[in-house]
Amino acid sequence: MMSADPNCIFCKIVAGQIPSRKAYEDEEILVFHDINPWAPVHLLVIPKIHIISMAHVKPDHHALLGRMMGLMQQLAAEHGCNPYPDGGFRIVSNTGKEGGQEVHHLHFHLMGGPRPWARG
Ligand code: 5GP
Ligand code: ZN
Repeated sequence: MMSADPNCIFCKIVAGQIPSRKAYEDEEILVFHDINPWAPVHLLVIPKIHIISMAHVKPDHHALLGRMMGLMQQLAAEHGCNPYPDGGFRIVSNTGKEGGQEVHHLHFHLMGGPRPWARG
C-alpha cells in the first residue's frame, strides 16, 4: 500500500499542496471542512496515509480507524453539532461506485447541525 498517491486530491490536501479549512490534525489523522457541505456541520475525517476505501482496510489499519471513530464525538461537539439526543450527528463512508464514492481516499463524512439539510 502506497502511503501517498501523487494523483489523489486528499493526499494533496494532506501534503498542503491543495488548501483546506482544517478542523483537526494529528500524526495520523486530518479533518477538514467539506468544500460542498450538505449540512450546517460537514467535516471530512481522513487518514493521512492513502487507504483507497473501506473495502481496502487491513488489520494493520484497525487501530487507526478506531482512533478516527473515537474522535467523532469531540469533533462534533467542537464544530457545532448539538448534543445527543436532540442534536447528534451522522457518519457516512461512501465506498466504490455503487456506494457513491467520488474521492478514492478513505474518508468519513461527519455531518450535523439543525435541519433541514441540503442532502442526507
Ligand atoms: P465522496 O462522494 O467521495 O464520499 O465524497 C467526497 C467529498 O469530498 C465530497 O463531499 C466533496 O464535496 C468533497 N471534496 C472534493 N474535493 C474537495 C476539495 O478539494 N476540498 C474539500 N474540502 N472537499 C472536497
Ligand atoms: Zn490519497
